[in-house]
Amino acid sequence: MAYTLEGSTGTWEIVCGLEVHAQVISKSKLFSGASAAYGAEPNTQVSFVDAAFPGMLPVINRECVAQAVRTGLGLNAEINLWSRFDRKNYFYADLPQGYQISQFAHPVVGKGVVEVTLADGSTKQIGVTRLHLEQDAGKSLHDQDPSRSFIDLNRSGVALMEIVSEPDIRSPEEAGAYLTKLRQVLRYLGTCDGNMDEGSMRADVNVSVRKAGEDFRTRCEIKNVNSIRFVMLAVEAEAKRQIGVWEDGGDVVQETRLFDPTRNETRSMRSKEDAHDYRYFPDPDLLPLVLEQAWVDELKSRLPELPDAKTARFVRDYGLSAYDARILVMEQATADFYETVATGRDAKLAANWMMGDFFAALNRTGRTIEDSPVTAANLAGLIDLIADKTINGRIAKEVFEAMVETGQAAGVIVEAKGLRQVTDTGAIDAAVDAVLAANADKVAQYKAGAEKLFGFFVGQVMKAMAGKGNPALVNEALKARLS
Ligand code: ADP
Ligand code: MG
Repeated sequence: MAYTLEGSTGTWEIVCGLEVHAQVISKSKLFSGASAAYGAEPNTQVSFVDAAFPGMLPVINRECVAQAVRTGLGLNAEINLWSRFDRKNYFYADLPQGYQISQFAHPVVGKGVVEVTLADGSTKQIGVTRLHLEQDAGKSLHDQDPSRSFIDLNRSGVALMEIVSEPDIRSPEEAGAYLTKLRQVLRYLGTCDGNMDEGSMRADVNVSVRKAGEDFRTRCEIKNVNSIRFVMLAVEAEAKRQIGVWEDGGDVVQETRLFDPTRNETRSMRSKEDAHDYRYFPDPDLLPLVLEQAWVDELKSRLPELPDAKTARFVRDYGLSAYDARILVMEQATADFYETVATGRDAKLAANWMMGDFFAALNRTGRTIEDSPVTAANLAGLIDLIADKTINGRIAKEVFEAMVETGQAAGVIVEAKGLRQVTDTGAIDAAVDAVLAANADKVAQYKAGAEKLFGFFVGQVMKAMAGKGNPALVNEALKARLS
């Protein structure tokens, strides 16, 4: 079902395209050898190039180009073997060069596609228009001193990939799904860490609205939205605002806006975006960027397995539902963990343990899969103990909780706490007899037809055996005695 919004004049459709700035993972900056690491003391990672000292010349960082090409390949995009850097001129206090080196007319990556999966299970292809490399600017600090602003140039010159989507997005959900997928692919590729709260991925959100069948109307751009949830909220809030403007007989004017999450509304920041004249021209300090096909092919041959392929393989090889596979593939580390647990074991049982008790424990303890108290080998060990009937499923939950607390292996806990399953039929029969003797009234009711009492007897026997009875044998013994 297409997503629409109702106005006083009828039904409206959202049109949205995203421009995502993704900080490239690399040791050094796009055109200098200064460190690109996040979080250093201000102005400790600034070369003369980054500070734009006169006469300094940029030198392209091969690894940043490789990262952009890998990303393009991961987005099923055309790689342009010939591209060019242009200067985008503007004045900003934290941009000492007075221009940003970017790629305007000739980006390194052309058209690609991102396939997203929506909540109803359907998929949709969102077009990628282009990906280009550019420098990040520095940062103005306005909150350090009551009367002065400071400039931190650590970020100046750090490599960014700007990834522009086609206006193919039609709902807040699709915007969220696109960003989620893009972030996932970048993280798998190791080309951007996707940490939106540290600003290493941020989105400019272009939104317009139209009536069904119309051409596109004027759009507004909401700058620098820094979480996926905020992007989704911003799309909806901005679409509703524009519907109001059109329905009141006004015109939506093309402008740049900001999203205010506390008020869930967008506000005008500057108007007439198109009137900006950046006076782009080819950067005379840099040669065109010429790539060899063989180099691109080599990068391609070394790409990791990406989420879509991995999801399909999990469905095929482990017999998982597409839904379960997608959850386990969300992060590379989760997928690796799962494969360690599932290989050579009941893969569905492994998936159930991970998506149930294991994820719940991570949530509860605030841990990530990387610092999980239960290692993949230990979860596998627990499943082995269930499979070889050393413990039953109920005791396994108790063992698992002890594993979360202590980080110990399942076998160690089972032995220390004496949790081995009881399969000795003598002990089981004794427990059954004791329970039936103590509940003579219920036995009579059962024999008179109250069959649902069987579950009660099972529970009582298990309780008498401290949960350690083999459930199949307990059932069998009870049936024999009660028949
Ligand atoms: P510019 O170069 O001025 O930023 P682009 O044509 O490159 O403009 O588009 C920038 C972004 O805006 C793209 O992500 C694109 O998909 C999106 N976009 C373009 N037209 C519309 C529209 N009418 N409504 C919503 N988004 C749009
Ligand atoms: Mg733009």
